[in-house]
Amino acid sequence: MTAAVHPLPLPDPPPLLAKLIETVRPEFQQRLIRIDPDNPVFARGRCAVEGCERGGWSKQLCDSHYNRWRLADRPPLDDYYATTGPIASRGPLERTDAFDLRELPLQLRLEVAYSIQRRHDERRVRLIPVMIHQLVALLAAAQAASLLDRPVDDWVAEALVTGRARTGSRTIGQLRYAYQHLQDLAEGADAESEFARDVWRVAMLGLDTTRPPRTISFAEISQPWLRAAAKRHARFRLASGKALSTVDIEARSIRYFSDFLAEQHPDVADEAGLDRPIIEHYISWMATNALGGYQTNTSLVVVRGFLEACRRHRWLPGLPTETIIYIDEIPRRPRPLPRFVDEFVMGQLEDPDNLARLPDATTRHLVIVIMETGLRAFDACALPFNPVIDDSVGWPCLRYFNHKMAAEQMIPLSAVAAQAIRDQQADLQVRLDVPPPVLFPAENANPDGIRSISYGTLRERLSRWERDIGLHDETGRPVVVTADQFRHILSA
Ligand SMILES: [Zn+2]
Repeated sequence: MTAAVHPLPLPDPPPLLAKLIETVRPEFQQRLIRIDPDNPVFARGRCAVEGCERGGWSKQLCDSHYNRWRLADRPPLDDYYATTGPIASRGPLERTDAFDLRELPLQLRLEVAYSIQRRHDERRVRLIPVMIHQLVALLAAAQAASLLDRPVDDWVAEALVTGRARTGSRTIGQLRYAYQHLQDLAEGADAESEFARDVWRVAMLGLDTTRPPRTISFAEISQPWLRAAAKRHARFRLASGKALSTVDIEARSIRYFSDFLAEQHPDVADEAGLDRPIIEHYISWMATNALGGYQTNTSLVVVRGFLEACRRHRWLPGLPTETIIYIDEIPRRPRPLPRFVDEFVMGQLEDPDNLARLPDATTRHLVIVIMETGLRAFDACALPFNPVIDDSVGWPCLRYFNHKMAAEQMIPLSAVAAQAIRDQQADLQVRLDVPPPVLFPAENANPDGIRSISYGTLRERLSRWERDIGLHDETGRPVVVTADQFRHILSA
């Protein structure tokens, strides 16, 4: 009697390889992924040299013509396109117009192929073959089974040390991109697992990434029960069609509430401990903190709505019934806002993260002074180096010349404005040997800081900044706020 011989069953592929085989489409499973020069997703059209059939990459030239052009000392391109002949073909040129993955073992090959497929599907960054070829050379030399065998920074360091890529190069970009997406594939990342994280990446939620914010963070909300509720609230708001930027501002407002609890009531262990006296304390704490008056108002409005939603949807089932912020408890904005700049827009202008993106300290301090004091932009630009005087009760006041009234005037300073002025003075003392006569000196051709920044320069910088931060209204349309409208963003 002989035992039947059973062929040994093949072992299952490791889970990530199985996922890659399932996810990478047949055209990207090839060892040599050809790029049709007429396919607009990867290719950029054909080489501009008359008679050359290859794909054009840098300067609209194929790699061979590009190298020749470089070696010929970069003559004017139009002449070069017209006068150079085609390259005589020398044998098969397989790596021309293709991503060549032949050096890689199966799993690594599919890992790189997956990054190519993702780029293809996203249609945002164009890959050029040399980026992939450098990446392939790096991986082939490393004898690894998977990119994920090592931390991404190890790979980057090796690419730099071996000279295969430069810091900030597109090859490094593709390496990090491949790594990130592979990790997501390995972890089964989708919108659901993204919502479980404490920092939501907007791209992973399938939402618009063409304008900020690109992440929404709950990580700074230190109480786990509050963080969980804030995330449910945010998810609910997104689902009901609120703009990402609105949800982002709401998450920040709940963060201030979290800061308050951590600092003033660290013993509150869950929502049951949130009694009405704590809420009253919170309202008065907000009124005296260093946020601008506008942000104080926004934060209270947000937390009021958040508590109400938590009660309605039972996200915080132990929340006492008296834990309410009444609408008449929310301090009014210090001055009626002009109707032409709506509060949604102002929230973005006052956001400390956005202010941090102003191009230089002088502009940033100037903007804060205008917003906090309500000075006309023209008057603020012209402030002397020390415009602060202490009045009889010791409260700092700003003395300035009101050009419109042709008179010297004085107004009390908020803590935020006083700090911005002190910071600006300190900056100037570091930069210039002798304190200059003016507080906001012009940057160019002004070595001693004698001239003030001009109103025109300020306007230009503000409008560039507004574009940079993607200033927009509630419907997502870009908006412009002029330098003089900034003074209506007043705080207490
Ligand atoms: Zn060519």
